[in-house]
Amino acid sequence: MKWSWKIGEFAGISVYIHTTFLLLLGWIGVSSLLQGSSLSVALSSVGFMLALFACVVLHEFGHALTAKRFGIKTRDITLLPIGGVARLERIPDNPVHELWVALAGPAVNVAIGALLLGWLILSRTLQPLTALSVTGGPFLERLLMVNAVLVGFNMIPAFPMDGGRVLRALLALRLEYTRATQLAAGIGQGLALLLGFIGLIANTLLIFTALFVWIGAAQESRMVQIRSSLAGIPVSRAMITEFHPLSASDTLLDAVALVRGGWQHDLPVLQEGRIVGILTRSDLIAALTRSGQETPVSEVMQRTFQITDSHEMLQVAFSRLQACACHTLPVVHDDRLVGLLTMESVGEFLRIQSTLEATGSGSPDARSARA
Ligand code: ZN
Repeated sequence: MKWSWKIGEFAGISVYIHTTFLLLLGWIGVSSLLQGSSLSVALSSVGFMLALFACVVLHEFGHALTAKRFGIKTRDITLLPIGGVARLERIPDNPVHELWVALAGPAVNVAIGALLLGWLILSRTLQPLTALSVTGGPFLERLLMVNAVLVGFNMIPAFPMDGGRVLRALLALRLEYTRATQLAAGIGQGLALLLGFIGLIANTLLIFTALFVWIGAAQESRMVQIRSSLAGIPVSRAMITEFHPLSASDTLLDAVALVRGGWQHDLPVLQEGRIVGILTRSDLIAALTRSGQETPVSEVMQRTFQITDSHEMLQVAFSRLQACACHTLPVVHDDRLVGLLTMESVGEFLRIQSTLEATGSGSPDARSARA
């Protein structure tokens, strides 16, 4: 994610912190000072925020480490002001695995809460539970409350919350995956409407939560629909076959000519017929201002990049396209570049496919793949 700083790594997973989160920390400290609090009070509110986000990081590691047990890697964990995001390479196909991965996050907060409660009881410092609140009271009690809130919030049975995934996994034990997702998304959007309505009367913050849930549900259901439409179809059906490659000895000026001609977004670079690099449009523009038009393409191109095979399943290649921060996947077959796969080319394929299906003239293999 852009504007993120790496703060550490554990179990092979890098943890990033987003700049806006640092701004939030600064804002909490400064606003507390401006309200006339002493420096120690301001520092303790910043400290509390850090402790809260440590709990969020542990929650994300709960998801990530459970996913790892099922052979799913996590690319990274990023802390944002709204919470943490663990980017799993894929969602488990097995509903039982998805259930465990989704439950593992909130389970971590239950465990932290239990430890805090145990400590407070043993040290005989526990205030009556009715006196606890998120905003006031001693540090550990507040942290206990916050973990309880995290569990409650995350278990709301709606995407993008963990509860939505739990619900989908439970439904998918009985129903087909796409159907389970649609049903779970529908329930989530119903809840969002209800939340929004309560928000109108009671609390404006709820309206934002409702909006967040509504969009999350719609996105999840669309993604799963796309994935199921792509099942059983090879990459070759959705790739661009008419493209113009560069050769490694070409200059940036040659690249500009191709981009101007409207050929493509990213340019594959060939050497003796084999792909050796990718020149992205943004790298091209950056290099033009930095080192001039005569620079050879080979100095600017990206040498490590993801590829796909024209016989690979579109569903798999599409998840890779989404996962890599790249715009174009070169399609190779027998060591030869045969096409380019982009989000647009997949989108175009899906549009044509759905039109053909609507008019009843869909190709037989596409229809059987959906059945
Ligand atoms: Zn979670």
